[in-house]
Amino acid sequence: MVTPSEIQWNELTFSLTPSKTMYVSVFSGNQWHPGVLQPYGNISISPAAGVLNYGQGVFEGLKAYHTKDNVGVVLFRPRDNARRMIESCERICMPAVPEEMFMEAVRNVVQSNKEYVPPYRPEATAQGSLYLRPMVCGTGAVLGVAPANEYTFIVFASPVGPYFKTGFQPIKLKVDPHYHRAAPGGTGGVKAIGNYAVGMYPAKKAKQQGFSEVLYLDAKEDKYIEEVGAANFFCIIGKSIITPDLNGSILSGITRRSVLQLAQDQLGLKVEERRLTLEEALKADEAFATGTAAVISPIGSMTFEDKTTIIKDGKVGPYTQKLYETLLGIQHGILPDPYNWIERVV
Ligand SMILES: *Cc1c(COP(=O)(O)O)cnc(C)c1O
Repeated sequence: MVTPSEIQWNELTFSLTPSKTMYVSVFSGNQWHPGVLQPYGNISISPAAGVLNYGQGVFEGLKAYHTKDNVGVVLFRPRDNARRMIESCERICMPAVPEEMFMEAVRNVVQSNKEYVPPYRPEATAQGSLYLRPMVCGTGAVLGVAPANEYTFIVFASPVGPYFKTGFQPIKLKVDPHYHRAAPGGTGGVKAIGNYAVGMYPAKKAKQQGFSEVLYLDAKEDKYIEEVGAANFFCIIGKSIITPDLNGSILSGITRRSVLQLAQDQLGLKVEERRLTLEEALKADEAFATGTAAVISPIGSMTFEDKTTIIKDGKVGPYTQKLYETLLGIQHGILPDPYNWIERVV
């Protein structure tokens, strides 16, 4: 284990640095047993566990971080993560973790690991955080394809640096019509673990070719934009902000819903959640991707079948910049929080 005094806060990247404790609760005999904080470490499970054989597992991701004066440690909309995890569990036949139990688990993990929360650095454009990873998986042994009879809920935590060290860096996307991350009627709309390994091969190929990520199109017609890797897609055309509607194969991002709210209330943009063709998106004035890890990533170019379209001269557009500053401002207590998005836990 790395002790907090050994951590080089300025050197952290978005990778695993184990912290002190993790929360563990087991579901068996038809109920969740009281969770306990235990030292972070390996767990032991049956080789016949439902998660290992049939991918019965879901996860969440949220950040605990210091606000601007380094007083308290806060979470951003954690109840939205709790509710989304309930939906994810239901979709793959796992018992849902009650919202209050989720909240107790994340609070306990942050309090227990508070020395691992990176300090707020006023001179930095992007801040580090303690990334929390709640997950539920089928740990009961099962031979045929069926739900397991025992489940484990774990919340572990890792200090991480900002996703982009230099703040904002427009990313290059590859539109790859050979692969899809999710199909109609599938599990793309929930954070099921099975959705992520399928993207590794296309992402690896795209990265070898110099791209940052893959922009996925819909599985049925290869025409409509779905997501950017594991982030939601947005574009700005004139005075409209457009993002693909939640059609079942797109994940309902918490950053996504926050950006939509801010765009409407504070930037006076017209919000359009609808089907968005690649053709239309290539004409965008600005484009960006959203997710907890990177917050907002401006999109500098999109390449489809050897044709590269540069967006906003590869620079960060004014609306993208304003949304980023507003969202980060609210998150770090620099701007007021009219929506009560921030929840203090330490
Ligand atoms: C987690 C995730 C997102 C982003 O969701 P946030 O709640 O904003 O972090 C977007 N797309 C996919 C596929 C995801 O797994």
